Amino acid sequence: MDYLPLFLQLRSQPVLVVGGGRVAVRKVDLLRRSGASVTVVAPEVREELRELAAQGEIQHLPARFSADHLEGTTLVIAATNDHEVNVAVSTAARERRLPVNVVDDPALSTFIFPAIVDRSPIIVAVSSGGESPVLARRVREQIESVLPEKLGALARFMGERRKTVQRALGVLARRPFWERIVNGLVGTRVLAGDEAGAEKAFDSELRTSHLTTSPVTGRNGLGEVYLIGAGPGDPDLLTLRALQLLQQADVVLYDRLVPDAVLQRSRRDAERIFVGKDKGGTRVQERIHELLVHYANKGLRVARLKGGDPFVFGRGGEEIEVLTRHGIPYISVPGITAALGAASYAGIPLTHRRLAQSVTFVTGHVIDDDSLDWRSLAGSRQTVVFYMGVAHLDRIVTKLRDAGAQPEHPAAIVERATLPEQRTIRATLGTITELASAEKVSAPALLIIGDVTSFIAGDAPFDAEARKDGSMPHGAFV
Ligand code: SAH
Repeated sequence: MDYLPLFLQLRSQPVLVVGGGRVAVRKVDLLRRSGASVTVVAPEVREELRELAAQGEIQHLPARFSADHLEGTTLVIAATNDHEVNVAVSTAARERRLPVNVVDDPALSTFIFPAIVDRSPIIVAVSSGGESPVLARRVREQIESVLPEKLGALARFMGERRKTVQRALGVLARRPFWERIVNGLVGTRVLAGDEAGAEKAFDSELRTSHLTTSPVTGRNGLGEVYLIGAGPGDPDLLTLRALQLLQQADVVLYDRLVPDAVLQRSRRDAERIFVGKDKGGTRVQERIHELLVHYANKGLRVARLKGGDPFVFGRGGEEIEVLTRHGIPYISVPGITAALGAASYAGIPLTHRRLAQSVTFVTGHVIDDDSLDWRSLAGSRQTVVFYMGVAHLDRIVTKLRDAGAQPEHPAAIVERATLPEQRTIRATLGTITELASAEKVSAPALLIIGDVTSFIAGDAPFDAEARKDGSMPHGAFV
């Protein structure tokens, strides 16, 4: 690609045109259409330009070009038939790093004009990179012939209604809606020049959107679900997409782990429904499934707000199974899982290259399952994070010790990670149970096991050997 196509915003920007002949007239016309403030420098100009200057539409400086004329301008066009003048304009402009075009002379230009199809706000620009302007114009004509005359009007019609549609419809429903507008009665009306008819058709299309069968999903209504990871607690850790979707949802179903500060970011008039559960009860989960289906089928936009990431010990998988089974469209938004939030805020680099080559997330719920390979979890040079583990702390430690982990093996608990009350307890497998009970650690908290938990930035040179000598702090509170 020899040239980068760009669309310049020139409204009220000063642009200098050198020359006053026929070519200059064309360029001045084009520049004025883009709203530029045009100054023409030429001893003589054609009648059209003289008139424009007399009406104050452009400025005319009746002089030969000098470099001073470039002062304060943003763009320069040389449209004279005098090669020497064109060279002088090009040289002076380039010295000042001003974009310059010498008409029909790519060698003297830093930018070139494309052939354009103007159906503002739709603009098509075609260029042959100066190789063959004739061919470029030919391509332009071909495009021109297939684009409806009123295309611009349609773009404007849609642009003016974007906000209304954004308010009325969910993210997933919008695209099929706009496609219906473009391909259907509304589009035909606007292109036929009947804006009043189009307006009526649009209103009825928007009204019935909520009632008719969606061509995409084949379902009634246009409800949809946003499965949103709310992060570990600090509302600043929400993703931009989480925030956008949260502000559009009509109903918010939220968990116990979602703090009020995050909930506050949802739309003021949204219905907020608490669906928290204490011990992952099946009944509660079934109820959540029912609510998701119920509200989406009513045509509402439902935000399912879950702590951390929905797919990390969050049963997000089961929820999308249900949605898929009912043909309900959904968007899933990842969140920062508790382990990542806790590690970051507590300064524990989960896979510091000197200390751990892997990190494993384990749920403390299944400690009695045979599926857990305790021998491998007890190994060194790795980090293991237990979710929902503090209630079973004693048993987790025993299992690890039985599987061969040493009592000096470092461990930490991060309680209420990323929240203002966050506490980090650094200890060892030998001391952590006692410390946790002395400190009355409570949920939500994570148990992190591995050398990385005794890492303190700045304690260089640090290595696991030094810690084993007893030179590293154990049981420090941050
Ligand atoms: N989907 C969530 C995890 C849900 S399981 C996620 O990705 O983070 C619930 C467990 O997550 C809690 O028992 C606790 O171990 C952990 N947890 C969640 N938020 C936490 C927080 N702010 N601080 C510490 N642990 C947290």
